[in-house]
Amino acid sequence: MKSSFYNIQFEYKGNIFVFNTLRGALAGLDDEYLDVLQGKKEKNINAAKELINQGFMVEDDLNEYESVKNNFFRGKYSDGMLSITILPSLACNFRCPYCYQCETTETMSEDVVADLISFVNSFTDIHELDVCWFGGEPLLQLKIIEKITCMLRDFCRENGVEYNASMVSNGYLLSKKYVALLKDLQVRNVQITIDGPKEIHNKRRRHKADDIDTFSKCLKGIALLNECGIRADIRINVDKSNVETIEELLEIIAREQFDDITLDFARVRSFTEKCADVDNSFFSIEEFEKIELELKKKAYYLGLCDIDSFLPRTKTIYCGAEKTRNYSIGPAGDMYKCWCDVGKIDLSFGNIKNAERDMLTDKELSYLSFSPFSDKECINCKLLPICMKGCVKEAHQIKTSCREKQEAVLEGLRFYLENCYE
Ligand code: SF4
Ligand code: SF4
Repeated sequence: MKSSFYNIQFEYKGNIFVFNTLRGALAGLDDEYLDVLQGKKEKNINAAKELINQGFMVEDDLNEYESVKNNFFRGKYSDGMLSITILPSLACNFRCPYCYQCETTETMSEDVVADLISFVNSFTDIHELDVCWFGGEPLLQLKIIEKITCMLRDFCRENGVEYNASMVSNGYLLSKKYVALLKDLQVRNVQITIDGPKEIHNKRRRHKADDIDTFSKCLKGIALLNECGIRADIRINVDKSNVETIEELLEIIAREQFDDITLDFARVRSFTEKCADVDNSFFSIEEFEKIELELKKKAYYLGLCDIDSFLPRTKTIYCGAEKTRNYSIGPAGDMYKCWCDVGKIDLSFGNIKNAERDMLTDKELSYLSFSPFSDKECINCKLLPICMKGCVKEAHQIKTSCREKQEAVLEGLRFYLENCYE
């Protein structure tokens, strides 16, 4: 038996702990266990058994790296699930300064809807269909969404396929009537962005008609979603211009006492020239790692997330855009891998009307061929199973330093240990 390559050993309050990034296991080690792990005392059978069960020790001939690789490629090419992000239109009622999308007024036509249904029908061997409604603002397109959902559910019923749906919305139009409709349309969770307390949010998440309180409408929308049994995934975009206000926002969210929310802090990034004028307010990945952890701690103290969220989660693959059966589809039926690309027709790799799934193009391949296993640093990195190299799109654009990632992981683990027995 040997110690797992994916063990990260660290000290906390004078004791030695080990976290295994492949199994997501964390344990404190006394001298006896430490000796066994380091191969000094193989005869303590009980200690060895426990360390093996949790993945801290593995068979001598097990190639753990190959098993991470195998899981990654299984995830990439798995054919049981089809995931599609549908953008019925890029039209939006907001005009956020950092928005990367190229707004057009085109909405999905009857013909494109028919092509979309035929496209889905060509996947005869799936057992799960995962749909995400996106835009523009998808709540402006509920009629089309209703129609497509009805057809997709027919397909699922006839073929014994499980149907799941989610939505990304700015939340402004969420009324009792719309929320009830979303429930009927089997939307299980809606991602809504809140960018700061009222004054800040209203400036950043601006309605096209000026001086509208979009913040209060969003909070009301979240409450309505929860009343109807739909989870709200609150995304908080953070950059240098709003970072100081996020703690106050968290206090406001905590006071609302929502029933079913998740929180996610996101780094604002520049993907297009359209964002160039706000570019210097963005944080680097390294800066953001530290800020995110501090904000998460605050969220934990306010009861907005639980302590387990500080344990890094093992992933087989970082993002759906790397998978074969994962598509983002624009209003004209144009196909993309990453949903941030929709509308930039030069980045589209085809159209659902004449999609040739077996003939991959360079644009599609640039996402599909992405893998951490061609990067020397990732191959030799103990964080690989919890990182998987990150966002493809970003990796194509910039080279990042990973030292800060390790520090952030260790600090998160120490925070977990400090609070997990409370
Ligand atoms: S991107 Fe960095 S942290 Fe992630 S697996 Fe590669 S080397 Fe490790
Ligand atoms: S490639 Fe990056 S930007 Fe695109 S969906 Fe994946 S994580 Fe998001």
